[in-house]
Amino acid sequence: MRKRILVTGGAGFIGSHLVERLLGEGHEVLCVDNFFTGNKENIAHLLDNHFFEMIRHDIVFPLFVEVDEIYNLASPASPIHYQYNPIKTIKTNVMGSINMLGLAKRVRAKILQASTSEIYGDPEIHPQPESYRGNVNTLGPRACYDEGKRAAETLFMDYHRQAGVRIKLIRIFNTYGPRMHPNDGRVVSNFIVQALQNKPITIFGDGTQTRSFQYIDDLIEGMLTMMDTEDSFIGPVNIGNPEEYKIIELAQKIIDMTGSRSKLEFRPLPEDDPRKRKPDITLAREKLGWEPKIQLEQGLRKTIEYFDKLLQKNGHLP
Ligand code: NAD
Ligand code: UDP
Ligand code: UDP
Repeated sequence: MRKRILVTGGAGFIGSHLVERLLGEGHEVLCVDNFFTGNKENIAHLLDNHFFEMIRHDIVFPLFVEVDEIYNLASPASPIHYQYNPIKTIKTNVMGSINMLGLAKRVRAKILQASTSEIYGDPEIHPQPESYRGNVNTLGPRACYDEGKRAAETLFMDYHRQAGVRIKLIRIFNTYGPRMHPNDGRVVSNFIVQALQNKPITIFGDGTQTRSFQYIDDLIEGMLTMMDTEDSFIGPVNIGNPEEYKIIELAQKIIDMTGSRSKLEFRPLPEDDPRKRKPDITLAREKLGWEPKIQLEQGLRKTIEYFDKLLQKNGHLP
């Protein structure tokens, strides 16, 4: 059955892949984005599709449309971007969520929230199961994002309990792939762009902190599967790849794969940078029958190819 689906943040990295997939499945997609970090290039190839509509809109302000499902992705996502205007970041996550929940309530739409592993903060439990309540510094530079996303989860639960809104909460762990911003400071894009240009690879701290990297296609599959579960399963559910790497290992892998002459350059570790992160995906396996399928090297190859083309097209990066 063709559905009308709203994707907020649809011109961003994850959003554009989601929109593409939903259109591919024959749905009608409405993309809402204020283009803070999103890019028209990400969705330009979809504009000819009659079932695709794009609205420039900021979700901090109310939005009145008629839809069956909402994927709420609008929020800056990388530390550089969410710390650029922290007040706006928390407003987007709190006021934006209230508006999208108000919309879901009015039109009786099902709504999925793109929450994040950041709600676990610098975790004392490893790997992180959904039952872990987290270790977030309310006062630090990451709080605008972490606490904004935590408050959003609370709002989703309250709209569910109080107003009967059908909600779905997923906690996304570090995701990478084509259409990441070349200069949003995230580790995979940074290292690939640096390696391709034979520039120093910037390691923050000593590089022993860990992350677990999920390829975009695996995430999209998990999101769609979660949206389609029965209404009684609301999550939260971790969606991520449990294969864990030290940041310095990631650097070495990317240097090897690109045949780069880059050297490692050590820089200070940013404040509140989590020491380790790895999802426990038992619940996703059990409830969604989902698990990531794409190995790091396989995903990195596609991502390197994307950035290589981007570099060749522009001679430099935008
Ligand atoms: P992105 O920056 O590429 O996409 C976010 C999009 O939201 C952009 O297009 C931006 O312009 C838009 N946006 C921001 N504020 C808005 C507002 N007030 N109104 C309307 N649009 C607005 O980032 P992404 O990596 O695609 O992340 C998408 C979502 O997934 C975010 O909510 C992020 O918190 C979440 N997430 C991402 C990751 C990851 O590893 N990429 C991990 C966990 C959670
Ligand atoms: N809202 C919206 N679109 C809608 C319905 C509501 O943007 O289709 C906004 C509404 O303007 C309000 C928020 O969502 O700011 C929360 O709506 P709710 O009905 O929960 O609260 P109320 O309007 O009673 O304050
Ligand atoms: N990082 C790094 N060099 C960079 C960018 C990031 O060493 O050029 C580190 C960063 O300090 C963190 C990890 O890589 O420990 C992941 O950073 P990212 O910003 O991608 O994601 P997040 O910290 O939000 O998980």
